[in-house]
Amino acid sequence: MIEKRIEELINILNEANYNYHFLDKPTITDQEYDKYLRELISLEEQYPKLKRSDSPTSQIGGEVIEEFKKVTHEKPMMSLSNVFNEEEIYNFDEKVKKLIKNPKYVCELKIDGLSVSLLYKKGKLVRGATRGNGTVGEDITHNVKTIRSIPQTLNKEIDIEVRGEIYMSKESFQQLNEERQKQNIPLFANPRNAAAGSIRQLDSNIARTRKLDCFTYQLPDATMYNINTQYEALHFMEELGFTTNHNNALVNNIEELLIFIKKWTKERPTLPYEIDGIVIKLDNINDQKKLGFTVKYPKWATAYKFPAEHVLTKLKDIKLTVGRTGKITPNAVLEPVIVMGSKISRATLHNEDYILSNDIRIGDVVSIYKAGDVIPRVEKPIIERRTGKEKKFVFSYNCPICNEKLTKTEVDYFCTNPYCDARKIESLIHFVSRNAMNIEGFGDRIIEDFYNMGYLTNFLDFYKLYNYKSELKELEGFGEKSINNLLENIENSKNNSLEKLLFALGIRHVGSKTAKILAKTFLNLENLVNSSLEVLNDIPDIGEVIAQSVHHYFHDQNNIILLENLKEVGLNMTFLGKTETIESIFNGKRIVITGSLDFINRDELTYYIEEQGGKVSNSVSSKTDLLIVGKDPGSKYEKAKTLDILIWNEEKLKEYFSSLKQP
Ligand code: AMP
Ligand code: ZN
Repeated sequence: MIEKRIEELINILNEANYNYHFLDKPTITDQEYDKYLRELISLEEQYPKLKRSDSPTSQIGGEVIEEFKKVTHEKPMMSLSNVFNEEEIYNFDEKVKKLIKNPKYVCELKIDGLSVSLLYKKGKLVRGATRGNGTVGEDITHNVKTIRSIPQTLNKEIDIEVRGEIYMSKESFQQLNEERQKQNIPLFANPRNAAAGSIRQLDSNIARTRKLDCFTYQLPDATMYNINTQYEALHFMEELGFTTNHNNALVNNIEELLIFIKKWTKERPTLPYEIDGIVIKLDNINDQKKLGFTVKYPKWATAYKFPAEHVLTKLKDIKLTVGRTGKITPNAVLEPVIVMGSKISRATLHNEDYILSNDIRIGDVVSIYKAGDVIPRVEKPIIERRTGKEKKFVFSYNCPICNEKLTKTEVDYFCTNPYCDARKIESLIHFVSRNAMNIEGFGDRIIEDFYNMGYLTNFLDFYKLYNYKSELKELEGFGEKSINNLLENIENSKNNSLEKLLFALGIRHVGSKTAKILAKTFLNLENLVNSSLEVLNDIPDIGEVIAQSVHHYFHDQNNIILLENLKEVGLNMTFLGKTETIESIFNGKRIVITGSLDFINRDELTYYIEEQGGKVSNSVSSKTDLLIVGKDPGSKYEKAKTLDILIWNEEKLKEYFSSLKQP
């Protein structure tokens, strides 16, 4: 009896899912669906033995995992090359035609979500995985099971991998953000971020509430199932129970393709989900194999990207910033808007002439434009929207930072004061450098860009950067992964020993060596801050000039506040190195390094050796105690051999390091 009812309910729910997702024609209301689902859940709770493994209830999650398991993709999940205009589309077609006669293409909407690999064994869903770096992704099976458009059981008992895009509809995205706004939780910048954030949850209850969806679009091993074209593959996926996008189309030539693109460029806003382009795939799978792959992309497909969007917003203010070279750039402070899926609150105005020739005024409604570049641009004011309250911007001819009179070269103004705070950027660059806080992932360019965009103005801002995570992810050249790495590196830098911070602060005359001496002597920042000038003067190796500079630095209220703030966000303020360096094998030794080392960077090794009391020099002589040899060593290696100097290879060095880690 009970068993029969369970079967009945499963059938009703499966059919409803099928009608809803496959046929796009719901046959029962959401309320009815929920009612049946609840009945099934309660029966399964009362009679756990009767619960079937393919029950749709397991599709609604409730699983919490400890961590994401790594998954190695059988075939790498590649990204797509891009084309931006007709000409580039024709070029793509030309290249294909060199090998293939009369190619046909499937055009597919490029869904703006995240790609997923779905693995089925004997028709049962066994694994869902993210693309990750293309080779290794993360196991998200528990969350994938909560997505109604992904079948748990296929209509055929086969082993198969299917790939597709998980996405969040515009409507669900809006609801989610409204909900978050009420609860004062940071909003997601766009549906893609929301989908990615939801799928990367350990607790599948969260993913379940996020109403994700999935379109499948790829069979990596199509020919194994006797499928010979991409178009057939799409149909086969539908037969199996997947949802493919019904707007996808087969075209016979580029002219038809361009019509498809035109249509969707226009109708894009009417879609219930976001798309960011059109994927063009060579239809015939054997032909695809003839074309093959580059390291990053298939050569038989490409993605047409929609042109940059122009968005209107209000120009609240114009601020001048000073670049690394002293160059002055006017920056627009904007009322935040979403441009091409990312939230923008700053944009560049290039220079004074640009503002004048476009007659851009503070208070104007302006159009913002973002092409491939990192910093979005203000394009022009919308004159019709003027109210009369707009103010002309008065360009300051003094440095906004140090007030020095600016010098003009052609179009740009420069601050030439060598002590100008434009050096702020340089000080920020110094802060992250290896011997300072050693935060990897920041190039000089990135720091300058972040500075100009207002994300980084002082040292403390590094530790608040995570607040802008969703914005940063959108910047050209960044992605979820690189931002996560960057934020992780920043987080790790909090554990640095005091001397790194002391060096990073950029106190005049305090190099990394002096920083080390200070840290070792005072053991924590408080002791150092409270030390008198006499005490500082008495430290061996610290001269009067350094002592005064240090004393001066720690008696500046601004510096004290900065340090307190850094402490508050969790920076370590104590010396963590060894106070005794006697037992180190490097202590008192002259060491030379040659060749490239894999597991440790040369600067790091040098730093380490010096910390252990050793001296690193550049050339081998009879006084050298030890030569460390990496790959492709230079002449130093030969010389050391003739001088009979102790030589360590990387293996030996590693051995030594691991012996240190033992208690
Ligand atoms: P991109 O991230 O710009 O390199 O574009 C490649 C990504 O587009 C893939 O990794 C997929 O996540 C996504 N995509 C969306 N729709 C499709 C589709 N119909 N076919 C292939 N990839 C798609
Ligand atoms: Zn200046």
